[in-house]
Amino acid sequence: MSVENRNLGFATKAIHVGEEPDFNNGGAGDVVSPIHLSTTFARKKVDEPTLGYDYTRSLNPTRKALEEKLAALENARYGLAFSSGLAAESTILLSLLKPGDHIVAFDDLYGGTKRLFNHVFSEFDFKITYVDASDASLVAQAIQPNTRLVWIETPSNPLLKLCDIKAVAHITRKHNITLVVDNTFLSPYFQKPLELGADIVVHSSTKYIGGHSDVLGGSVMTSDTSLYEKIKYRQNAVGAVLPPFDSYLTMRGIKTLQIRMERHYQNALEIAGFLEKHPQVKKVIYPGLKSHPQYELAQQQTTGSGGVITFEIKGSIDDAKAFLEHLNLFALAESLGGVESLIELPAAMTHASIPKEAREKNGITDTLIRISVGIEDSKDLIADLAQALEK
Ligand SMILES: *Cc1c(COP(=O)(O)O)cnc(C)c1O
Repeated sequence: MSVENRNLGFATKAIHVGEEPDFNNGGAGDVVSPIHLSTTFARKKVDEPTLGYDYTRSLNPTRKALEEKLAALENARYGLAFSSGLAAESTILLSLLKPGDHIVAFDDLYGGTKRLFNHVFSEFDFKITYVDASDASLVAQAIQPNTRLVWIETPSNPLLKLCDIKAVAHITRKHNITLVVDNTFLSPYFQKPLELGADIVVHSSTKYIGGHSDVLGGSVMTSDTSLYEKIKYRQNAVGAVLPPFDSYLTMRGIKTLQIRMERHYQNALEIAGFLEKHPQVKKVIYPGLKSHPQYELAQQQTTGSGGVITFEIKGSIDDAKAFLEHLNLFALAESLGGVESLIELPAAMTHASIPKEAREKNGITDTLIRISVGIEDSKDLIADLAQALEK
């Protein structure tokens, strides 16, 4: 069997790419990629090369299998696996920027990405301008002669604002600037930024790609050889690589990515519809609902809306806390993208460090709630939400 990436369907690639049974080199014909724990690889003679692996930080057979699979998911030429989403992001920044360079970034980025920009990379004299990139013309206006990178995330967290990837890519192409898209929230199954003009896709594979809330990881996909070589060089030089066992777990997760995403989406649509009709709910934000202000854009650039829903209930922050604490099936936890449903109150949890006034100005009110809808039975999830809303 030979797996020729591009002509196969998503689920077929997710299952087979990188894991073709190996009948050569002493391979046992494993159907599942073995976990190669060895940190170093021997050669027969001093003057003979190794079989292609020297030291696991540089290349490991299990991580390589995952990296091939990751590339296939985004229809990219190359994939790289890191020890976390933020390790992947740091390595991209270290690969592409020099002191004095300027970045234009979406003002609604994941908090950890903003912390990395504002408190780590800013110390090395990188300049950052945040704009509301859901309006692509604001990205164009923010570009300076020293702008090297545009960094967006769509949909954003927790307000689920979308950026028009094609429109932003049109701008970055014109100015010869690299466009990075964080595709964590939709996974490659629902959105393929490279096909819309992005140069690099980054994921926290801790979320949907891994999918089981049991392995941290970050991935980078690109089809640009020169970008790949720069990032690959620093992946080894900096060393934040994904370990073999974690690579195996991530591959195991990827095999069910399509059916999980379909179920997350179906459950989320049902729950968003239920919430929208509930008298205790003030507002529901979900790109798959016609009421979302960018519903048309969601229809154009994505094939589904994922499992994250944000909504606002009537009442005070204490009412919101009481609602969360009365739920039985939604764990009160940060993160998203796992098979189990999670719920969080940004004002008291993920965004608690932002002063109330600034928070509210950005739409994060005291009763704004974010759920990551899992793949349980939707009727059970809806019944749980209904009983907690009654209280
Ligand atoms: C979680 C997350 C990250 C960071 O990834 P880690 O794996 O936690 O380091 C980056 N971007 C988004 C959108 C995320 O949700």
